[in-house]
Amino acid sequence: MTTHKDLIDRDRKVTFHASTHLRDFAQGDAPGRVITGGKGINIVDKDGREFIDGFAGLYCVNIGYGRSEVAEAIYQQALEMSYYHTYVGHSNEPQIALSEKILELAGPGMSKVYYGMSGSDANETQLKIVRYYNNVLGRPQKKKVISRMRGYHGSGIASGSLTGLKAFHDHFDLPIETIRHTEAPYYYHRAAEQEGMSEREFSKHCATKLEEMILAEGPDTVAAFIGEPVLGTGGIVPPPEGYWDEIQAVLAKYDVLLIADEVVCGFGRTGSEFGSHHYGIKPDLITIAKGLTSAYQPLSGVIVGDRVWNVLEQGTGEYGPIGHGWTYSGHALGCAAGLANLQIIEREGLTANAANTGAYLQERLQATFGDHPVVGNVRGVGMMGALEFAADPAKRQHFDPSLKVGPRMSAAALEQNLIARAMPQGDILGFAPPLTTTRAEVDEIVARTRKAVDKVT
Ligand code: PLP
Repeated sequence: MTTHKDLIDRDRKVTFHASTHLRDFAQGDAPGRVITGGKGINIVDKDGREFIDGFAGLYCVNIGYGRSEVAEAIYQQALEMSYYHTYVGHSNEPQIALSEKILELAGPGMSKVYYGMSGSDANETQLKIVRYYNNVLGRPQKKKVISRMRGYHGSGIASGSLTGLKAFHDHFDLPIETIRHTEAPYYYHRAAEQEGMSEREFSKHCATKLEEMILAEGPDTVAAFIGEPVLGTGGIVPPPEGYWDEIQAVLAKYDVLLIADEVVCGFGRTGSEFGSHHYGIKPDLITIAKGLTSAYQPLSGVIVGDRVWNVLEQGTGEYGPIGHGWTYSGHALGCAAGLANLQIIEREGLTANAANTGAYLQERLQATFGDHPVVGNVRGVGMMGALEFAADPAKRQHFDPSLKVGPRMSAAALEQNLIARAMPQGDILGFAPPLTTTRAEVDEIVARTRKAVDKVT
């Protein structure tokens, strides 16, 4: 019988893993794990050890694991018509139905959906759309895109440049020339420096910083602004009060497009259909992935608003068919999975559960860790939350990074058979369980986290 160790040893010889110390892994000095199954909010490894997945994979398995209904939809579609390309007007039934559903959920002002396979490639598409748009409008110099420090938008050359996390730039010569990063809406961190600012004042400060950057670059060179409604990988940071209103006012003033990266927030995670709905954001373009299929198939998308769509149409009138396409765009199996997934979210009221049980999650985290001696900040919205550790919470003083408090907290949680993610920058433990999570499961997540945190401190 193949043991877990046999599998990991084979894996060390052949696989290049994401976000992994490649040499340590290849030499057997970093751990591996082979996941063999999942049901509800739990996953199981080859040894039969079961974990609560408090992060829904990478905040993507929104309907939970082991949904036979989605597997059946993929299987039936594969039997009937597994794939045909979607170039030059070809389509498939699930693609059409899924686009109709996405546009219905996105609400008025949104025109068309273009599909990809990952959030990263969808953001590559966004950047191409933005360039094409301004070229059609006769503004070839309007090409720069402003992102935020701590934003996460993917790992490609362009999407990785949009990402505002140092670890994703270093040694890859990123960001590319046309990308800029402005202030992160990180009230807890920045309030230490901007002592005395209210959340509203801090939002205003972020908007002023953005405006200063647009003016310094030259408004006629700035094409778009991209942001996640809630900063995700950068630390699970809900925006300070009034942030999006302030930002949108600046963008409107300088005719800068707004791209809402809803890869994490989309399809219920904040307790609203989209994070944009939650915070009153009116984007020109929306990026979706993850919760679109709950990761039962890789599928992403770009939702194009009317204002941009009209220009794209006009452009093809002048230049001919658009020179953009992926082999797997609108893949029939991905779209079939997406449809089945969105049906489950709707039928089971999972967005409402993310709001209600999510509020309970926030309440329990706050009650358990609000006064904890090494927890500086407890925050979250809907079914996503974070604990930020601090050496001295009263002074908002961080731990020395060499102590690796965040990763140690995550490792301690794992010992309790709980997956809580050490976010890549800072001592932050992130939670984003499936949207199916019940109150009893929240209690268990919080109880296990408490044991882990107490063990490290
Ligand atoms: N955008 C956001 C907000 C994300 O969180 C991610 C991934 O975590 C991406 C884009 C990139 O998606 P992918 O990893 O599917 O390329």
